[in-house]
Amino acid sequence: MQKTTVRFLTLIIPLLWVFHTTTAHSAASRCSGQGVQLQVLGSGGPEVEDQRASSSYLLWLDGKARVLIDVGGGSSDNFGRSGANFADLDAILFSHFHVDHSADLPALIKSSFFVERNRDLPVFGPSGSGYFMPDTEDFLESLFGIEGAFRYLSAFLDEGRSNGYRLLGKVLDVNNHKHQTALKNKRISITAVAVHHGTLPALAWRVDIGGKSIVFSGDMNGDFETLPSLAKEADILLAHNAVPENARGVERFLHMPPSVIGAISQKAAVKKRVLSHRMRRTLGKEQETLNAIKKFYTGPVMFANDMECFSL
Ligand SMILES: [Zn+2]
Repeated sequence: MQKTTVRFLTLIIPLLWVFHTTTAHSAASRCSGQGVQLQVLGSGGPEVEDQRASSSYLLWLDGKARVLIDVGGGSSDNFGRSGANFADLDAILFSHFHVDHSADLPALIKSSFFVERNRDLPVFGPSGSGYFMPDTEDFLESLFGIEGAFRYLSAFLDEGRSNGYRLLGKVLDVNNHKHQTALKNKRISITAVAVHHGTLPALAWRVDIGGKSIVFSGDMNGDFETLPSLAKEADILLAHNAVPENARGVERFLHMPPSVIGAISQKAAVKKRVLSHRMRRTLGKEQETLNAIKKFYTGPVMFANDMECFSL
């Protein structure tokens, strides 16, 4: 082959591969169909410069939004934009209480004042860590309790149900590294497991709904090795791509590099991966990320953007 042809092929083959892996399963910008759909309300991290809302995901079943996972900054606007009805939610799940996973909860709850909802709403999340991080009940109390920052909204926690519904905080113990069932009924089964996110109490979540399973890694570095069994044969593993492969120090203490995402998906034999929590340190490095992942496990990998909807 001529040198110019070789150069052209060297350039074009990786590009075609990225195109294939990122478009293997197309994502629409609106979830309005039947069956199970995953919508990304926030695909970014804590920095506003990534120009994305922070972490938040919505699971739809037959056109109704049933489970909200994390409520990071900016995501409440996208919740409204998605067309979801707050009254349809069966549960809110928190991976942990860093700002980029929880800051828009007050905005969303205030907004629900204008929605008719007549059943209580469970809010599941991790246990606390001394003075450093509240548990899920304390987190709600610190916002909406009678001494909370938004105490004018305390009716959302009050026994009198003066708003038509109450938020019911439910704590899952992160010291227990076994799978923990949060909710199980005819429609839905929700399971959590503790994951290592530095010193933060943190959970990964699995939701089985409509015959499909979706697993959310949350922020984690992989050290507890608890995610592969939770993600076993999941239809989608939504993994956080917060750091590049060469991350060291604090970054690596808090987050898993792409090779760990690859190793987990290989152990769990997941069907597809969606990568989110994209930050300036990983944006633009998608090819490097894919290369590190595929050393362990090939198969579809998609990079999430705000409002995208993935049908299962
Ligand atoms: Zn985060």
